Parts: sequence; structure tokens; C-alpha cells
Amino acid sequence: MDGLVLYLTKSPAQTQPDEQKDPLLPELHAVLQASDVQLSCVDGVDRAMQLLQQAHAPLLLCLLAPDLDSPLAGARKLFPLAPLCHWILLSNEPEPQPPSPLNRFSQHLSVLPRHSLAPLPELLHKARLRYRHEQAIGRINNQLQQSGGNSAQALQRYTQSVDFLRHLFDTANEAMLATAVNGCIVRWNRAAEHLFDLEPSELSNQCICDIAGDEWQRRMPEVLEQMAQPQHAQLRLELRCRLGNGRDCVLEVKLAQICNNQSALMGLSFFISDISARKQAETELLKLNEQLQQLSFQDGLTGIANRRHFDFALERAWHEARRQKQSLALVMFDLDYFKEYNDRLGHQAGDECLRRVAAGLNSQLHRSTDLLARYGGEEFVLLLPNSGSREAVQLVQNCLAALYNLDLPHPASNIAPSVTLSAGIAAMVPDTELPHSLLAAADSQLYRAKAAGRNGYCAEGPELNH
Ligand code: GH3
Ligand code: MG
Ligand code: MG
Repeated sequence: MDGLVLYLTKSPAQTQPDEQKDPLLPELHAVLQASDVQLSCVDGVDRAMQLLQQAHAPLLLCLLAPDLDSPLAGARKLFPLAPLCHWILLSNEPEPQPPSPLNRFSQHLSVLPRHSLAPLPELLHKARLRYRHEQAIGRINNQLQQSGGNSAQALQRYTQSVDFLRHLFDTANEAMLATAVNGCIVRWNRAAEHLFDLEPSELSNQCICDIAGDEWQRRMPEVLEQMAQPQHAQLRLELRCRLGNGRDCVLEVKLAQICNNQSALMGLSFFISDISARKQAETELLKLNEQLQQLSFQDGLTGIANRRHFDFALERAWHEARRQKQSLALVMFDLDYFKEYNDRLGHQAGDECLRRVAAGLNSQLHRSTDLLARYGGEEFVLLLPNSGSREAVQLVQNCLAALYNLDLPHPASNIAPSVTLSAGIAAMVPDTELPHSLLAAADSQLYRAKAAGRNGYCAEGPELNH
């Protein structure tokens, strides 16, 4: 049973259809008996609607009895429940005419004389075919809709993602520009307009080299040339620029090649940030660091190098002299009777005396590599790279003379009316890993100078020994 055939007769109020009262029924049975359909005789449209709502098979044919008052009105009512049905208007006329005007289901409506039901099997066959075609078309439509729906969704997703990227591009804080390989600007975002202080008309189709001055304008042609080479996929630069509004700044420029699917170079992308503030902070930090380093290497009282500085310098000079097989000289100075100086004149006067002695000694150095440092307390050291004891002695003599000329009164000294100092000199070509031997040698020479009566020097060395 693959379909229904309905015989719709007059409303139940008017007649009770049965085989006795309606001789058409047995005839219908006879005509349709070979067809695999269920034939139902229903009195009245409402009963027919009930039946169709519960039916499991489609209504293929609906025969409208000739005695129905308004058969087409009934058919119109049933139509939504049976859109694929073929309607057959039975007529008492021997040669009935189709009703007019034609309505939406009229192409699936036939008029048959009630005594000539022979075309019914053919009409049923056509109705069945139409039902199957409609079903197949429905299935194909469903499939098409599904696959079409998927591709529509994909397209929507893609569009959304393009929109999203465009949104990102336009609202990014970083200035972004895209150029052709020759540098002609084809796309930019609002941040780029803002950074370069240029109107869209001043960016569109302009050469990237011309949108800022100074280093930007000078270096950009060579940068473009470089980026046109296959091996230069990316580049990062820092350029000093003068912008449209006359502002000078430092820009960080990140360039990348834009290639198509076949890896052919299409253009260049520019990501640009104003790093002026960062650069300024870096410069200041660098200056501060230098100052800090200087401070950490400087003696707070006298302003000359401190012990820390001296230790570094000695280490470096020692290794350099060892590598070059050169002589390195070291002098240790110690103020004579300085405790007595403080005791007599006070610590403030002592400090001032240390400052003046340091400046006096320092004034005798003329080589940039020579270094005078405060070793501690009232002791000073002199580091003389590429010097033997002879040069060191000469320099120490100059230093003692300079101090003498300073004529700093020392009322508590046992040996002189003015401030004096003793010096120990040592020089050697380094042959060990550490410079302790040089320090120890100078120290022992200082001890000797003290022991010898102060206000003088002793030097280590085969030919020189004062
Ligand atoms: P000598 O001739 O044997 O070297 O005797 P001296 O008194 O110089 O040596 P001593 O080691 O006995 O005393 C050193 C003094 O140097 C003690 C200290 O008061 C003084 N001194 C060390 N550092 C400073 C400083 O920064 N300022 C002042 N004013 N005095 C200092
Ligand atoms: Mg001392
Ligand atoms: Mg002393």
C-alpha cells in the first residue's frame, strides 16, 4: 500500500455513502483493484481532513462526487494536506468541460464523466510518478540546501575573519603600511596616518621614502633595494626621523616581504612604532649607569680613582703586560706622620690635606694609561703600564717635588715643617697569574723608605735602588 485514493461524497448531513446508495463505489473498486492503493469513501470535507491527518500514505487521487455542492471549495480545503494529489472532478455530463477560472491546482485536476472511469489507472500512475519525482526532488533539494548551507557558513566564517583582520589592522596601535615592491604605498591604517601626521591623500600611492625626513628619507631607498632580494624576508631598523608635524623621533621599523601562493614577491609590509620615549629613557639610563660606574670607581673624598678602580686596572694592566711581555711599574705612597697631622689640626684639615695631596700627585701624570688611586686612608698608589723602575723613579721624584711646592704646613711632623710622603717603587715583567708579587714588592719598598727616615723613596730593581 503506497498511496491513498479518496472518494469524497456529499456531506454526512445530506447522504450516507454506501455501496447500495452509490453504484460508483463498486466500479471504482473494480478499476483500482490491481493498483496497490487504499480506496476510502469519505462523506464530507471535515471527515476527509481527519483521515488525511492520520494517514501514513500520501493521497494520490481524490475523486470529487458529482453531487457535491462546491467540489472545488472542498479540494482547496484539502489541498494543504495533499499537495501532490491529483483531483478528479466527476461529472454527470457525458462530455464535461473543465471549471474556470483555473486555480493553483488546476493543472493537477481532471474532469471525468462519472460513467467513464477507464482513465483512472493511468491518472493514478501519473500521480504516483509525480509523487516519487517530488520526493526525489525534495531529497536533492535538501542535500543541496545542506551543502549550500555549509559553504555559506564557510563563506560567512571567512568573511567574518577578513572583517576581523581588517578591524585589527585599522584599530592597531602600531602603524602599519603595505607597499608595492617599489615602495608605492597601497594600504595603511589609522595609526600610520596619526604617526606620520598625514592625510590619506598624502599617503595613497606615495613613495614610502617620502613620508618622513632625515634618516628615514636617506636610508629608505637602500632598504627597499635590500628587501627586494629574496634572502631578505625580514628586517628591523631604528631610524631617526623628522615627521610631517616637524617632530623629531626615533622609529622602530619592522619590514617583511609579502609573497603570493607561488612565493612571488608582491610587496612589503611595514610595522612602525615610535620608540623615542624608550630611546630617551635608554640614553638617560645609560648616562646614569656611566655616572654610577664612575661613582663606584671614584674616591668620594679626593675625586681620584678608588681602590676598586685600582684593583680592576691593576688586573687588566697586569695581564696586558704579561701578554706583551712589558714592564709594569707600581708606586705606593704613604703620608708621613699623618696621624699626628690629624691629631694636631683635626680631621677636617686632614681631609683637605688628602684632597690637595691627591690633586698634586695627579697633576704629575701625563700618560692616559697612568692611574693614581687612593689605596686607603692616607695611602695612594700609582699604576704605570709599560714602565720600568727608571721611569717610575722619575715620576716619583716629580711627585715629591710637587708636594714640596704645595708647601702644606705640618706642625706635628718629626722630619719636616710641611707635609711629606714616602714611596715604594716596584717594576716587573709579569710572569705569574696574579699581580700580588708586584704589590708586595712595592709595599716592601715603601717599608724600606719609611725605615730609611721617610720623605723619600725606595725602588726595587737590579740597577736602581735608592
Ligand atoms: P707613618 O709616618 O708611619 O705613616 O705614620 P702615620 O701616622 O701616617 O700612619 P698611621 O697608620 O699610624 O696613621 C694613619 C692615619 O691616617 C690615621 C688616620 O687618622 C689617618 N687617616 C686615614 N684615613 C683618613 C681620612 O680619610 N681622613 C683623615 N683626615 N685622616 C685619615
Ligand atoms: Mg699608612
Ligand atoms: Mg702614614
